Amino acid sequence: MNTDTAHQDVWRECPAGELRRLAGNLRRRDVHRTTRRAALSATVLVVAAVGVFSLFSPTGSSRRGVNVGGLWCNEAVALVSEYHRRKLAPEVLAQLTLHLDSCPHCHKMRDQIDAPSAPAGQINKPARH
Ligand SMILES: [Zn+2]
Repeated sequence: MNTDTAHQDVWRECPAGELRRLAGNLRRRDVHRTTRRAALSATVLVVAAVGVFSLFSPTGSSRRGVNVGGLWCNEAVALVSEYHRRKLAPEVLAQLTLHLDSCPHCHKMRDQIDAPSAPAGQINKPARH
């Protein structure tokens, strides 16, 4: 068996312009991939912005505040009173704690939860927004 003949079967000279054509294909594929990646990033940004905006948008929820941790602000205010009467189920207490930790409007009430001596009638309600 002659190995030189085998190599000649596999390796042949490129036609003129073949390498340039292949490089062009790679370049176009790279541009396409970059464009697709940029479009995906833009889509993710838009979806995140819409989500954040709808979470804190006052439209339609101005009387209830915002929904954080599965509770609206007005529900959280009501639950703080219940908390001081020690009538909260553990899972509701967890929701309330999460809301008070995360909500920018109700954050001040968090300290009152930690101080059980505070009378329920003196709880600072969140400002209207
Ligand atoms: Zn709140």
